[in-house]
Amino acid sequence: MVEQLYKADTVLIAGAGPGAVDLLTLRCRAAIEQAEVIVYAGSLVNPAVLEFAGPGCEIHDSAALTLDEMVAVMAAGVRAGKKVLRLHTGDPAMYGAISEQINALEQAGISCEIIPGVSSVFAAAARIGAELTLPEVSQTVILTRRAGRTPVPEGEALADLARHQATMAIFLSVSAISELVDELLSGGYSETTPVAVVYRATWPDEKVVSGTLANIAERVTDSGIGRQAMILVGRALSRQGALSRLYAGEFAHGYREQR
Ligand code: SAH
Repeated sequence: MVEQLYKADTVLIAGAGPGAVDLLTLRCRAAIEQAEVIVYAGSLVNPAVLEFAGPGCEIHDSAALTLDEMVAVMAAGVRAGKKVLRLHTGDPAMYGAISEQINALEQAGISCEIIPGVSSVFAAAARIGAELTLPEVSQTVILTRRAGRTPVPEGEALADLARHQATMAIFLSVSAISELVDELLSGGYSETTPVAVVYRATWPDEKVVSGTLANIAERVTDSGIGRQAMILVGRALSRQGALSRLYAGEFAHGYREQR
């Protein structure tokens, strides 16, 4: 044990990673082992991670709960002196809807602590062997989503973001792939821009569909992949960039002298 994970009057919020059980962090695994109440996002968290839970642990699927119900379950657990864990998919900081949970728990006098997890954006990049920040091609990654039932603020429409020509990682949007492609093209990406769509990265039924903005919509539609997919877009995916300064022989830095 590195440190005491559970503290009084505190809910632990942890990222359970993209799917593969062995991509749980050691800390998240310890939190599951010690938990007495777990509320997990049943639509996305691999239920196999719950096998680390102790026999007496009370387990709730948040998919069936409203925010108020979920908060009531967590608050009741904390008030009964139990170790309460909220499990999210990937990393909780991305589209985890944790702010509203933290605010509601705070109003009930309960604090939260967060354990980071491996986000699907990095699981997807690993799967296709990509460096998202390729020297002289893109040094920026935009993590975003297309406006759907949840709107995006003004200035964050895909066409606006596309103007940067940076690498983009687009969550929650594959069901509108044709519209998404149109928006990226109208924002200025060329038709030859590489795109990879990674469905259920690190799960046994993972699928990768690759192409360019000219053909990806058709390929994704033909593949029949479902909604749980990450869309990576940008010239960085081609791996055709400049060499980095970090490993250049004539470039000295703190850990290596000039050669
Ligand atoms: N917090 C999560 C994201 C939750 S939003 C994270 O950090 O990954 C749900 C969206 O995440 C999905 O619509 C999909 O775009 C993406 N996603 C989650 N798990 C995924 C996986 N295993 N493979 C590909 N995309 C995934």
